[in-house]
Amino acid sequence: MLLRAEKLQTAIARLMRVAGTEPAAADVVAADLLEANLQGHDSHGVQLAGRYALNILAGKLKPNATAQVVRQDGAITVVDGGMGFGQVVGRQAMDLAIAAARQSGVGLLALRNVHHLGRIGAYGDRAVAAGMLSIHFVNAVTGPAVVAPFRGSQSRFGTNPICIAVPATTPGGAPLILDFATSALAIGKVRVAHAAGKQVPEGALVDHAGKPTTDPASMYGGGPRGALLPFGGHKGSGLALICEILGGALTGGGTNQPGTPNDRGIVNGMFTIVVDPARFGDLDAYRAEAAAMVAHVKTSAPGGDQPVLVAGEQEQLTKAERLAHGIYVPDATWEELAAAAAEVGLDRAELAALAGV
Ligand code: NAD
Repeated sequence: MLLRAEKLQTAIARLMRVAGTEPAAADVVAADLLEANLQGHDSHGVQLAGRYALNILAGKLKPNATAQVVRQDGAITVVDGGMGFGQVVGRQAMDLAIAAARQSGVGLLALRNVHHLGRIGAYGDRAVAAGMLSIHFVNAVTGPAVVAPFRGSQSRFGTNPICIAVPATTPGGAPLILDFATSALAIGKVRVAHAAGKQVPEGALVDHAGKPTTDPASMYGGGPRGALLPFGGHKGSGLALICEILGGALTGGGTNQPGTPNDRGIVNGMFTIVVDPARFGDLDAYRAEAAAMVAHVKTSAPGGDQPVLVAGEQEQLTKAERLAHGIYVPDATWEELAAAAAEVGLDRAELAALAGV
């Protein structure tokens, strides 16, 4: 079904409230999930709302927790998220790092014990809105690990995303938001393919014996589990490990190891560097050079019928299209949402009416 973003957002905010979230936080979470859908990242959109609601019910997600500063040392801030909403605590923590960067030129943030941060680009968006560059290394401990290291067949990592955000360098221009998982494919996409009886692209999965496969049943078929592969072979594998070290070990949140509890819901750790570009000398010269480079990249003649894009552009194109035409929500996703809503006490008819189903 095709749904309008604003109606769907109202429905998700209601679901979060009924599950026990204060109104302001419920609105932030709903807006964040909808933004992921609008930008084309359905794996990080409303399909997560049911899981969030059930995690609140199970006591794993503390819907009204706020960022707790456990250490402040110069430009360094260490924040414990108290298993609150990543969307809420993550924004609060980012604001502390941005404030540190304003003061010192750089802000270093270690955020731990936070429930799912969602689309990491959201934290890049927050930095660029303040005129800052940001770099984010994130680990995810959500059940057993799902990504094998290069040449491995057994999983050792989460899908561990990285984001680098650069504020617009021309008036009215767009920021660069580079934001992706270090796995070849999002785990949510493997699940969707399995439910639809489809294969996944080559190079994304191995079976339990380490043999390449395109069959998502190797992850969700109930037999011995295979693994997702990192993107870019040894390069993505190296970055996935760095996400564990910075996002999991340095933050104190824990890495994907047998000793780390992995039944606490969707747990992220995030190490962030926020940089004030104005502190490096000639801001105008930097902006002019950066803008010229982006423009130069885009003058490369397309090798096919698709244009050359830079980081963040695809998302903006998708957003314009989805704002105009609506967001496609598969029936199975809606069913999951409605079932979770009913479990936390929101009538499925009310949810449907709010969403415009
Ligand atoms: P992806 O593979 O779609 O890559 C997205 C990045 O590639 C963006 O920066 C985008 O602008 C850029 N891009 C896309 N098409 C392009 C093109 N034609 N030319 C140039 N650049 C292009 O992203 P993904 O790995 O599927 O990740 C999706 C989302 O999932 C991200 O927002 C990520 O943060 C999130 N994520 C979160 C977690 C978590 O634990 N919180 C875990 C994994 C992923």
